[in-house]
Amino acid sequence: MKVTIDREGCTSCGACWEECPEMFEESPDDGLSQIVEEHQIGGDPARGEVPKDLEDCVRNAADGCPVEVITVEE
Ligand code: SF4
Repeated sequence: MKVTIDREGCTSCGACWEECPEMFEESPDDGLSQIVEEHQIGGDPARGEVPKDLEDCVRNAADGCPVEVITVEE
């Protein structure tokens, strides 16, 4: 499973990194949500490869994003 954050639409509400801190974090550069470095695809802070054991929390984070900028691809 892959996950994408449309970072330009992120409002930095914090819900995703509270729900799933193993996958999401607040960028120290712009304050927006990003994928933690370990799980980034090609060094892209907006795209991540989701390990099996994090799929549920990533889905919950996507469902909980108030501006719906987190997308999962099965
Ligand atoms: S839940 Fe959505 S709006 Fe909130 S920090 Fe995460 S990506 Fe940004």
